[in-house]
Formats: sequence, structure tokens, C-alpha cells
Amino acid sequence: MGRPRIVIVGAGFAGYRTARTLSGLTRGRADIALLNPTDYFLYLPLLPQVAAGILEPRRVTVSLSGTLPHVRLVLGQADRIDLDGRAVHYTDPEGGGGTLAYDRLVLAAGSVNKLLPVPGVAEHAHGFRGLPEALYLRDHVTRQLELAAAADDPGSRAARCTFVVVGAGYTGTEVAAQGQLFTDAQVRGRPLRQGVRPRWMLLDIAPRVLPELDERLSRTAGRVLRERGVDVRTGTSVKEATHEGVLLTDGEFVGTRTLVWCVGVRPDPLAESLGLPMERGRLLVDPHLRVPGRPEVFACGDAAAVPDLNEPGSCTPMTAQHAWRQGRVAGLNVAASLGRGELRPYRHRDLGFVVDLGGAKAAANPLGLPLSGVAAGAVTCGYHLAAMPGNRIRVAADWLLDAVLPRQAVQLGLVRSWSVPLDTASPEVARVPGGPGRHGEPDAPGQPEAGERELGQVVAGPRARRPGPGAAAPGDARGGPSGNRPGGEAAKGRPGGEPAGSRPDDDPPVPEPPPDQPPPGPGTAPGPVKRSDTFTEGDS
Ligand SMILES: Cc1cc2nc3c(=O)[nH]c(=O)nc-3n(C[C@H](O)[C@H](O)[C@H](O)COP(=O)(O)OP(=O)(O)OC[C@H]3O[C@@H](n4cnc5c(N)ncnc54)[C@H](O)[C@@H]3O)c2cc1C
Repeated sequence: MGRPRIVIVGAGFAGYRTARTLSGLTRGRADIALLNPTDYFLYLPLLPQVAAGILEPRRVTVSLSGTLPHVRLVLGQADRIDLDGRAVHYTDPEGGGGTLAYDRLVLAAGSVNKLLPVPGVAEHAHGFRGLPEALYLRDHVTRQLELAAAADDPGSRAARCTFVVVGAGYTGTEVAAQGQLFTDAQVRGRPLRQGVRPRWMLLDIAPRVLPELDERLSRTAGRVLRERGVDVRTGTSVKEATHEGVLLTDGEFVGTRTLVWCVGVRPDPLAESLGLPMERGRLLVDPHLRVPGRPEVFACGDAAAVPDLNEPGSCTPMTAQHAWRQGRVAGLNVAASLGRGELRPYRHRDLGFVVDLGGAKAAANPLGLPLSGVAAGAVTCGYHLAAMPGNRIRVAADWLLDAVLPRQAVQLGLVRSWSVPLDTASPEVARVPGGPGRHGEPDAPGQPEAGERELGQVVAGPRARRPGPGAAAPGDARGGPSGNRPGGEAAKGRPGGEPAGSRPDDDPPVPEPPPDQPPPGPGTAPGPVKRSDTFTEGDS
């Protein structure tokens, strides 16, 4: 073989580490292509700090081409993999198509927001999986407080000041913890905002917050949240979301304009589209991270079901720690399969977990030692700085500035509600008006109605059409379920909605449910959020 061609799909924790390992091992003797829709690695654990205005968005990104010297970055999204022909077909950011032939393939496409069949959620909630969603939330929350301060009607004011987060895994817990501090700071010391009382609610059907983590972490987090004023409701979830608010499973109706959906994640639909053996939606691999029957294909991170050799019979959970360490093993094993070194199984040691609760508080159990308060806060900051593959000084500088200066609460309005639908296979990229269609197809084949254009015309990106849950049926050129479609965005006045275009305060008609959305039936009955599949939650 000449220079072996290695293709890595996805540059998150697993794919970035695979690329870095291979870059160091091969030093130009292999053609390593890294296919990713963005030109950066995203350090997801600090995303809640972006939404809370502590970190500027670029701080949590690391340039791929700037840090991976022997790796060729290919900007795009894989939309089909031909396993027999050994080729990855992708769509680039401008809608063009391309193909990458490979001798070795590493699948590390991660995960996307998990949707549950709760009526109204796809239309009214937003996820928290990518930078666009974090930017949207920061702006949206700021805007709600501005509008609440100007509202005459107490009901509308209260609804704008109520922020509902569903799912008390580490994502939801951190979003609520940081959110309450962020909004309190926007009200404190401002006499004209005296009637504005921000209220964050954190709901989970489980009996405690952080249900997948150690009980001591859970107790600490629950206590800090309650002391801070977060309304934590365990054993409770959302039964229905409407444009006025949410109906809880205990029958209470809560008026709100903000519904943040953090019930977990599911593996990227690309994994499912391969027709290979799956385990709870993740690609089955052996302990060497190889796909059975395809010795040239490796998979790791959230998208792969990696056997947990410490707990026989189970798979490793979807966490950054596992993805990062699996990425290294994938890199070593790809090199071994090309004759350099020996194949090794993926084994791990539990190093503990950190949950950032904001304001120098955290819950952590490094190496099993339970910590709370400022000590845990310091460990958490140190952990993130050590774990980030770059940008540490900028992150530390932002933390320092946040400690001494008031937070900047201004909304730039760059990411709108419709550009970050909950049901998307691409949470890492915001939809843009007039975006490219899929390669080889006309742009926006199903043209939106005039009224939809008024709200902001969106053309579904290529991956909304990929087969798999959340993708559109063949022939539906506009993308997947409602949230992905032009005009599928929440209208102003709906939870997660925002004023349309430049008309800040007139009520557009509430859109009809999109025609391709199945009516609730036996399989889509309203009901509580179940955590039965915690394994694919990601928040574990
Ligand atoms: C808000 C938040 C906070 C978190 N906090 C923690 C934490 O504190 N500790 C912890 O251990 N875990 C945490 N996690 C979970 C952790 O981030 C994930 O488990 C981890 O990112 C998984 O790594 P991955 O490489 O498998 O996927 P990802 O990091 O998601 O990377 C997947 C990459 O693949 C790309 N991609 C997807 N589809 C395609 C395609 N078709 N073609 C090309 N590229 C594609 C994506 O753009 C992305 O770059 C958090 C997650 C979130 C959302």
C-alpha cells in the first residue's frame, strides 16, 4: 500500500483525539482526512458558561487546522457511507458534494438532541447541544427580561421571567444553575426592574437531580440549586408544551416563553444509516473499537457502543471523558492495523466527575473524593483548563474578567429561534436563510409560502434529510419534523419563540402544525419524560 488513506468522520472529543494521535504517530506518512461541518473542536462541557455570558463563544472552540499539523481538514457533513466501496460521501458548507475514499475509517459523529413524543415540544423547545443553541439561549433570556421589564400585564411579565429546563442531568443542571445567576445579575441593582423576578425551574421525572451520577454529587447539586432559588421539581416533567407555557405531568400549568430541552442525546443518525449491528442506537464495536465484520472500520465516542470491560455486559456511557480516551485508543489501533504497534482494548479507570454550578460552586468527586463548595469549584476550573486541548489562557482570562466585572447582558440577535430547531441532525450548525440544498438537488425544492418568508426563510440543511430518527422522509426536501422546516419555528409569544423579523411586538398568527408532522397517536401519546434509556442519554 502507498500512503494509507485514513478518514475520520467527526471532530469532537473522540474524532479530534483520534486525529491528534494519528497525526503524531504517522507524521505525514499517512493521508489523514478529518471530515467535520465546522473548522473547530467544541469543548461542550463549558457551553452553559457561554449561554450565561461568562465565556465568549470562540473561547470554547479550538481550531482544527491550527492544532492538527498532519491532518487535512475537509469541511462538510457525511451523508452517506459506502462500506463496500470504502468511500464517504459528504456535502460541503456551500452545498457541493464530495467523496473521500479510505483504507481505514473512524466514525466519531457523536450525538444529537433526543426528542421524546411529548406534544408541542418539537415546536416550542430548544436543545442545548451546540454553540448556536447556547448563543440563542443567551440572547433569548436577555430579551425576555427586557420585555418583561416593559410589560404591563403581570401574567405576561411572569411568563417571560419563567425559564423551564427539562432534564436534570449535568447539562440541564448546569444550565439552570448558571441561568439563575445570570438573570439575577440582570435584575439586581436596577430599580426599574423591581417587579421582574426571574424564576428558573428544573424538572426531571427521576427522583433526584443528576440521576446518573453519584448520590453525593446529586445531593450537593440539589442543595446549591435550591439555595439559589431554582425551583427543582423531581418526579415531574412536561406533558405538553403550548405557546403560552407548559403543562406539567402533575397537572400544573406554568406560563413561560422558554423551554430548554436537556433530556439527553441520541447517537448521530449517520451511525444508524449504515445498516450495521447497533446497541441502543449506537454502533456496536469490539473492545478494540472495530466494527465486527469490517476490520477497516472503527467507531468511538457517543456514536459507538463500546463494551465496558470494567462492567461486563454493559457499554461505556456517553461522556466526554470516555470519548476522549477512546479517541486515543482508536488512533493507536488504526496505526496498529496499518502495521505500527499492537491492537489494544479500551479500558478505563473512573477519574470522577465535575458539575459546574456557577459562582465558584460545583459538585465534584475527583478520584472518588466527594467535594462541594469552593473547593469543588476550584477543582472544576482546574479540570476544564487541563482537559481543554487549547484556548486555556483565553478561558482563564474570561473567568477572571467575570470575577471582577458585571456580566454583559446585551442581545445581538444573530441566532434566531428558527435557526436552532430542536429536531435536527446538525446541532452544531445554525440554519441560515437561503442555505444550500443537498448536493445534486435544487435549492429549497419545496418553496416556502409567502407568509413563511416573512418569518425568515429557512432552507433545511443537507443532514435534515439523512435517514434515521429525526430525518425527513424521502422526497421531503424541506427536512425533518416540524422544527426543521421553513416556518416551523416557534412564533413570537411561544415558549422558545421570539419576535418575527424586525417586528418586535406584534403577534403573528400561530402557525398550523406542519403537514408532515404525524398526529399524536398511540405511539406518540402525551406523557411523562421517561428515563428508561438512560444509557443513550448522554447525561450519565
Ligand atoms: C452541554 C453539554 C455539557 C456536557 N458536559 C460534559 C461534562 O461535563 N463531562 C463529560 O464527560 N461529558 C459532558 N458532555 C457530554 C460530552 O460532551 C459528549 O459525551 C462528548 O462530546 C462525545 O464526544 P464525541 O466525540 O462522541 O461527540 P461530539 O463531541 O459531539 O463530536 C461529534 C463531532 O462530529 C461531527 N459530526 C456529526 N455528524 C457528522 C457528519 N455527518 N459528518 C461529519 N461530522 C459530523 C460534529 O459536528 C462534532 O464535531 C456534555 C455534553 C453537553 C451537550
